[in-house]
Amino acid sequence: VKAEQQDTIRVFNPEMQAVVDIRAELETGLRAALEHAELALFLQPQFDREGGLIGAEALLRWFRCGTDMVSPADFIPLAEDTGLIVPIGQWVIGEACALLRSWGKQARTRHLRLAINVSARQFHQPDFVSRLAEEIAASAIDPSRLKLELTETVILADLDYTLQRMNEIRSLGVCLALDDFGIGYSSLSYLKHLPFDQLKIDQSFVRDMLGDRRSGAIVSAILALGRALGMEVIAEGVETHEHHAFLQDNDCGFYQGYLFGQPLPIDEWTQRWTDPVTT
Ligand code: C2E
Ligand code: CA
Ligand code: CA
Ligand code: CA
Repeated sequence: VKAEQQDTIRVFNPEMQAVVDIRAELETGLRAALEHAELALFLQPQFDREGGLIGAEALLRWFRCGTDMVSPADFIPLAEDTGLIVPIGQWVIGEACALLRSWGKQARTRHLRLAINVSARQFHQPDFVSRLAEEIAASAIDPSRLKLELTETVILADLDYTLQRMNEIRSLGVCLALDDFGIGYSSLSYLKHLPFDQLKIDQSFVRDMLGDRRSGAIVSAILALGRALGMEVIAEGVETHEHHAFLQDNDCGFYQGYLFGQPLPIDEWTQRWTDPVTT
């Protein structure tokens, strides 16, 4: 037994050390990322049921050392643990307001809406709402063009406090979406209490809805629920024409996914989706 244990320890330790090293290296890199302008927003288009462009979701990208692209799935959790998500999230808001300002200057982009993702830790900063208000005022944008996508993790802390904060944000004129809807707990009671403008059906349901009757039933039930509550519902992760057809048959109002467009750098996105020559 002893030999076996020693064996396990020998194998286990270097691996654990490697994980710690990678994390520490990632953290140092992420701290530098903000200073060295290695972060960028990519945009993925969103459409209405007639196929009209309604706007985009901004998705964060980190070009580590200026080149390797690190996925947000790999650095957002670390940014949340270390608190770096707070300055990063503030940077995202600044970029989003600057983009909306430039969209607002042209007739062909003025109607577009921009959704950004907000982490729980960022949302719960005491000065989150006042800083958001400052950015909106400084950039002189129409706040109704900005949408914050929140997940259930934001709510888990304290419902009354979350409600109050959400009302403050809505009184600025900013819209709120509940992201990844359906995969957490007690989402229905959140809908009862919290003032979301939009639901985003989690992409896992969309991915499985054609092969799995239960996922299909959940998707159509979420769409019916959204209609009954007078909320917009958007499906994300729409990858195939079959997905699109199923969602249309179930009267889905809004769409996002690789079928329509991949996330692109802002310039490319603007050229691809709003240039009068190519659209
Ligand atoms: P999310 O908010 O659920 O974003 C949707 C993710 O699905 C994005 O991954 C997007 O690129 C991807 N996606 C879009 N269409 C399709 C499709 O048709 N099929 C599939 N399989 N995937 C699709 P991405 O860009 O890697 O972002 C991952 C997550 O990182 C986001 O999930 C969000 O939770 C987080 N994130 C991204 N940007 C930010 C940010 O600025 N702030 C915060 N706090 N989190 C962010
Ligand atoms: Ca999102
Ligand atoms: Ca999502
Ligand atoms: Ca997600």
